[in-house]
Amino acid sequence: MTGTASRPLAVEGLRKGFADRDTTVMAVDDVSFELKEGELYTLLGPSGCGKTSTLRSVAGLERPDGGRVVIDGAVVADPAAGTFVPPNKRGIGMVFQSYGIWPHMTVFDNAAFPLQVARTKTSKREMAERVGSALAAVQLDRFAGRMATQLSGGQQQRLALARALVRRPKLLLLDEPLSNLDAKLRQAMRAELSALQRQLGITTLYVTHDQDEALSMSSRIAVMSAGRIVQEGAPRDIYQRPATRFVADFVGTTNFLAGTVARAGGDGTRIGTAVGELVGPGGHGANPGDEVLLAVRPEAVRLHLSEPGPAANVITGEVEQVMFVGERVDCHVRVGDDVWVTRQEAHLAAATGDRAWLELPAESLSLIPGRD
Ligand code: ATP
Repeated sequence: MTGTASRPLAVEGLRKGFADRDTTVMAVDDVSFELKEGELYTLLGPSGCGKTSTLRSVAGLERPDGGRVVIDGAVVADPAAGTFVPPNKRGIGMVFQSYGIWPHMTVFDNAAFPLQVARTKTSKREMAERVGSALAAVQLDRFAGRMATQLSGGQQQRLALARALVRRPKLLLLDEPLSNLDAKLRQAMRAELSALQRQLGITTLYVTHDQDEALSMSSRIAVMSAGRIVQEGAPRDIYQRPATRFVADFVGTTNFLAGTVARAGGDGTRIGTAVGELVGPGGHGANPGDEVLLAVRPEAVRLHLSEPGPAANVITGEVEQVMFVGERVDCHVRVGDDVWVTRQEAHLAAATGDRAWLELPAESLSLIPGRD
């Protein structure tokens, strides 16, 4: 066995294609990642990028075409070796988007269902104990005798989670588990689910297209595009240091500026752009002449309504739109042919038509190689 033996999950070179008329769509195209004990690892990406197919291959609901899935040291899928372990033998718990609560059953029976249908019989006493502790974990123990339909949306979602936990899985797989809830409840459940996951210490593979969900809940994120992982990292890294235009664009709002490296050095990279020379962070391994894309988050831009004195990286423009969004104000500023999106403190008294100086702190710029 390889070094993956002690990992709760290792996915190695996973491939899965689906026939589409006379071609094959590679839903998962050479995907590899490993989960650490107790972490919540998220596959994040737009619709159709292959995250569900990856998760379903881990669950055993899809048979991969290539690569391996190793759960807790045991190979559960390896087409080259003819290995395929069915879902109920993989030691996993799952919650899906349509979390499938049975309306004609009580809360207790819904949670007990996986034990009732399991081949190994569970004694009545053990069943009561296991269901009791799973329901207590999601704070539904006092509703055990209720019909499932008497629960609110959020409670039904928690019940689905209890049902996934009742067999004490080593690995929890969650596929967009909050997407059927309304916006406010979804936000509350994010915090709840994340607290519960940490408290139980259960290793979790999470799938979502919602960047806020991914950023707020995950220990690490893998951003997927067209069947591949394009960047993996902690939420802060993904947000602050996007490796490609796709990641910068998909995760949060970003201003882009095309440039060419004029001088590269450890203390900063000078970049020629259509609005003047700017200084970006150093140590990027960029060379003079390289084409790059500068990516700047709206909240990293400092908007001044008068000239800010001698500061590097200042570009000028005109305020086009001012939108008050509670504790912040979003100002759109026209700079040449582009409109920059900025997020400022709410007390900024900017008005449409004002001259604006946009200060772009060098350390908050991301340098993306190439132009796309
Ligand atoms: P979503 O968030 O919309 O579920 P996703 O990122 O989870 O998207 P997948 O559901 O894994 O993406 O789909 C990846 C690609 O594989 C898509 O092009 C999809 O149309 C295709 N696909 C997925 N399942 C099947 C299937 N059973 N038959 C044919 N094509 C499929």
